[in-house]
Amino acid sequence: MADLSALAKEIVAGSVEVVDLTAPLHENTPILMLPEPMGQTARFKLEEISNYDDRGPAWYWNNFHTGEHTGTHFDAPIHWVTGKNLDDVSQVPAQRLVGPACVMDFTKEVEANPDFLLDVPHIKAWEEKNGAIPKNAWIMFRTGWSKYGEDAVKYANADANGPHTPGLTVAAAEHFATKTEILGMGVETVGTDAGGAFGFSTPFPCHALFLGNNKYGLTQLRNLDKLPTTGAIVIAAPLKIVKGSGSPCRVLALVSK
Ligand code: MN
Repeated sequence: MADLSALAKEIVAGSVEVVDLTAPLHENTPILMLPEPMGQTARFKLEEISNYDDRGPAWYWNNFHTGEHTGTHFDAPIHWVTGKNLDDVSQVPAQRLVGPACVMDFTKEVEANPDFLLDVPHIKAWEEKNGAIPKNAWIMFRTGWSKYGEDAVKYANADANGPHTPGLTVAAAEHFATKTEILGMGVETVGTDAGGAFGFSTPFPCHALFLGNNKYGLTQLRNLDKLPTTGAIVIAAPLKIVKGSGSPCRVLALVSK
């Protein structure tokens, strides 16, 4: 049986840091926008119930309105048609929300080319250098894109041909989905797929292949630059929404200093 008292002491002392990978959630948090006539996710919005006033003299509280896929959020398998018979967000086992991080850093490549796609040779090269991807890993696709996270126009980076943001090739998505035992992948962009993924041979391959193979997505992450390549533990905590396809999510990492 593992003794967690040493870990608890390290957290209290700060020698194990708790890094927040979550973007602040507010009404201007960038959201995914689909072309008409498709349905749209809602922006996050607070609706005040009382604020220490005649509606509630000693208490402040709000209702909130949001899409499931707004801000830093978790994609459950049922989100995609390929996973329609798999778990909704309330059914994802808690044991499968926590796992070791494997950070794949392509900040430089994305700086030069916002349409950069991570491909299978990149995964092989990463494993050659850092060892095999462990079971239940969270792949953290570091691109630097979170620096645009408070500027919706730069974040979407769209022109007449659509958005230009990084992602995975179909082959890379297939590799992770079918040849590894990872939990899923976290990204800094608005969704797990590349901006141009609608036009791929398998459209939206990360959604189609990850979710269809009972793996998950985490989006709009921050602070991936504060994680070591390996050795951190990621904890994803989506709301337990019954029949939910996903949820805004607090994502934390435990990092040894
Ligand atoms: Mn989503």
